Amino acid sequence: MSTWIKNRIRSRGYETYMENGENFIDSGRIIRALETGEQAPPEQVEDILDKALAVETLTPEETAVLINLRDPELVRRMEQTAAQVKKKVYDNRIVTFAPLYLNNLCVNNCRYCGFRRDNEELDRQILSPREVREETRELAGEIGHKRLIVVYGEAPRTGIDYMVDTIETIYDVNTSPGVIRRVNVNAPPLQIEELRQLKEVGIGTYQVFQETYHRPTYEKAHPDETLKSNYNWRLYSMHRAFEAGIDDVGIGALFGLYDWRFEVMSLLLHARELEARFGVGPHTISFPRLEPAYGAPLSEQSEYAVSDAELKRIVTVLRLAVPYTGLIITAREPAELRDDVVELGCTQTDASTRIGIGTYSEYTVEQAKERQQFLLGDTRSLDEFVSDMAERGYITSFCTAGYRCGRTGECIMELLREGKEANYCKLNAILTFREWLDDFASEETRRRGEKLLKQELEEVRRELPDSYPRLKEYHDRIAAGERDLYF
Ligand code: SF4
Repeated sequence: MSTWIKNRIRSRGYETYMENGENFIDSGRIIRALETGEQAPPEQVEDILDKALAVETLTPEETAVLINLRDPELVRRMEQTAAQVKKKVYDNRIVTFAPLYLNNLCVNNCRYCGFRRDNEELDRQILSPREVREETRELAGEIGHKRLIVVYGEAPRTGIDYMVDTIETIYDVNTSPGVIRRVNVNAPPLQIEELRQLKEVGIGTYQVFQETYHRPTYEKAHPDETLKSNYNWRLYSMHRAFEAGIDDVGIGALFGLYDWRFEVMSLLLHARELEARFGVGPHTISFPRLEPAYGAPLSEQSEYAVSDAELKRIVTVLRLAVPYTGLIITAREPAELRDDVVELGCTQTDASTRIGIGTYSEYTVEQAKERQQFLLGDTRSLDEFVSDMAERGYITSFCTAGYRCGRTGECIMELLREGKEANYCKLNAILTFREWLDDFASEETRRRGEKLLKQELEEVRRELPDSYPRLKEYHDRIAAGERDLYF
């Protein structure tokens, strides 16, 4: 095991990208910006909001102004602008996925995580190919998901070969009409050759969260004899992904380990670094809050716990600071809060979520705390979620066309900035929503969904008249039983 650990980290995999031995998280600049951002006059705030509305990435100094905003009228303007940016770039779509935890083996000992090595209370599990098939059948064939994010701990038995095998297995399951068309990956930091293998197997987004960008806190949370204690190896995971040809990446932080303001500023610096170096920013940003975890005391006693109001500010500021990026809110959060932040700017979420290993195919609605990384706040089914969203005027999208049509990386960045991606996505959201209503919706959800679908079709007929005939043709073919038609 110790040889395996020793060989995991290659210092070239981060030193190559550093400048004079320094990484891109400039804490001095972050702290200065947060201090001076407190004195911004209203005209400056308006200029910043205009810039965000033009889908331009903000500077750290501009972002700090938004983080510090207190005047209730300006806060209201800021939230309205965030909702406008969301509408402009992503329209009224909410993309859904399900997490699939494939194992809970881990060599690390993160003080906030239930999977940590020293947690002897946890039932350790690793899904076999047969179990992966069973879980996928339930997710695709019974619930109706089309996108998964597969989650791996860090251990020799669940390294790259296990990752590739399990992803291939998932793509191979076809329970007509249910099929998983996009597998995103949340995995430990990988080496470039391993990332090439992930690219080869056809993944969607590759995610690694830094947990906290504040180095002293990072060091406290990740004991120094563990793999994860190497801050820079983790920080440059996305650089290595780009080198390996993966241009669709997701970054994130675990909010509650350190001051949320510092983490937001760091996520922005991370996004700007990727944009500057590779011409492409992150496809998604995640901001999970620290949740109670079985056998992980730090998860219950953080002095930096983030309130609901602060979480809303985090979403608002990120929506404006990195306007082209997808924002993910997960079922960690309670239903009402999740619904609210969708309006403020979130674009992706999960539903029917189970995070106990192997629990989708157990047909249980209970959370299995001794098998989970943390506890969920929202256990709504996908059907209930789709229905609630439809009632609020949001169309749930199951679209997976982007990566299959090469709309990733620089290409998608341009489309998002020009507001054109919304067009493709709207059309594909309508088509996949049609499929899902026909294949999986309950009677009540279908009733709500049909009403929304009618409005959406009408909007396309009015606003995208050139696309409408093909959309209508595809829509009617899907209603007659064809599947997987997309723009
Ligand atoms: S947070 Fe990740 S790396 Fe840390 S113990 Fe949990 S599963 Fe392992």
